[in-house]
Amino acid sequence: MKIKTLEDAFIHSLSDIYSAEKQLTKALPKLARAAHNQRLADGFEGHLEETEDQVARIEKIVEECGIRLQRVKCTPMEAMIEESANIIENVEEGPVRDVLLIAGAQKVEHFEISAYGTLIELARQLDYEDAVNLLEDTLVEEKACDKKLNKLALNDVNEEALREAA
Ligand code: FE
Ligand code: FE
Repeated sequence: MKIKTLEDAFIHSLSDIYSAEKQLTKALPKLARAAHNQRLADGFEGHLEETEDQVARIEKIVEECGIRLQRVKCTPMEAMIEESANIIENVEEGPVRDVLLIAGAQKVEHFEISAYGTLIELARQLDYEDAVNLLEDTLVEEKACDKKLNKLALNDVNEEALREAA
């Protein structure tokens, strides 16, 4: 597909994040199983449910805007997921690995926050008001997830990891 108009750009960006969210629905259960800290595991489980809703929201946008998504693979997301898989493979289960899993998850959330920020503004320009609202719902969830991960690191996991070394 040739990208020429702002609508093309919107469709392309939406297709990209759709691929990203789909990949995450497969990766999050693995992260939940790999997490040592129970609250981190629960956090990954909870965000899996939200991610499934986010996929459904994108499908709703497609329907309401009468557009068709492109078949694209979000390669940055693929790379970030791959990085976490390497951590799981190469670092023993425990707080130190949790620190790295949180860091990886926060990279993912920041990527999503950025992508949804762009999409919201494009949808606004194109007068896709329903899409704006749906995308904003998702953005709220991504920001909350990032905050939760941050708190978990600062209040729990980083400290546990430091004691691990001692
Ligand atoms: Fe998401
Ligand atoms: Fe997310």
